[in-house]
Amino acid sequence: MKEFPKVSLGIFPTPIQKLHNISRILGADIYIKRDDMTGIALGGNKVRKLEYLLADAKEKGAEIVFTTGGAQSNHAMLTAASARKLGMEPILILKKRGVTEKKGNQLLNSLMGVDVRFMDTGDYADIYAEMDRVGEASGKPYYKIPCGGSNALGTLGYVECAREIRDQGMHFDHIICAEGSGGTMAGMALGAKLFLPGTRVTGMMVDTDPFDEITPALMREAAALLGADVEITQEDFALRDMCGPGYAIASEEGNAAVSMMAREEGIFLDPVYTGKAFAGLIAMAKEGAFKPGETVLFLHTGGAGGLFAIDMND
Ligand SMILES: *Cc1c(COP(=O)(O)O)cnc(C)c1O
Repeated sequence: MKEFPKVSLGIFPTPIQKLHNISRILGADIYIKRDDMTGIALGGNKVRKLEYLLADAKEKGAEIVFTTGGAQSNHAMLTAASARKLGMEPILILKKRGVTEKKGNQLLNSLMGVDVRFMDTGDYADIYAEMDRVGEASGKPYYKIPCGGSNALGTLGYVECAREIRDQGMHFDHIICAEGSGGTMAGMALGAKLFLPGTRVTGMMVDTDPFDEITPALMREAAALLGADVEITQEDFALRDMCGPGYAIASEEGNAAVSMMAREEGIFLDPVYTGKAFAGLIAMAKEGAFKPGETVLFLHTGGAGGLFAIDMND
């Protein structure tokens, strides 16, 4: 398979730990992979994608790096921190949606002195057009990273994560992660197909996009980049709707999962992604989806920045 250049931004491999108390409560063998500890800013899954995306930006001589998301985007904040570290200037053009005051990720952006602009639009196409307008006006070479870093190149970050799990020498029957823009889940599912035989990957959907189409499409594009000769089918991944009242709106189940992880294990999830994803794992355990003797790995994708801004309604 083809290897792609990447820059070093984080600290890898991230640890895998057993959740002893939660395993006892749920009656299943549950482990956590600490991608909330990826080693730049407050950590999170976007760092693995950015190692590939920003290597591409560097190679293409970019001086400005654009990305987008909602006001509390973990991805945008991590892109800003990572671009700065590599000597490129980040400009975030965000949807005017969510908490726009200097809280959570916006506080972090402001501490980094990042150029943040809000656009009152529901359509990312408007934002990508604005990036081109601003980029061309600057006269400098620029690079655009899509929402969540979820294109084929970004997806490679989680193919690599699957290989990392294999190299950590443990087998898991199930891997469970949040699915927001799709790259993490698609990379993990493709990576499992390539490196983790016998592991079933379930994506917990925290938004309402058509992930049954997005997931296999990204898997195919990433496989094509790698030159991997695999056929992707609906059998290669599982999805579960955990969005609740809406994207970035806290759900009761999600909040209960955030509390459980905090009280039992001293680990903090977030209400937008990881809390809802872990609520999906709890539901699967209660439904008997994990057979006796099976092991389950929960991918902690981060989200600490948002925890201090998103209203949990309690
Ligand atoms: C972006 C994000 C996700 C979702 O990952 P995608 O690759 O966008 O599907 C999950 N958890 C956190 C904390 C995130 O910031």
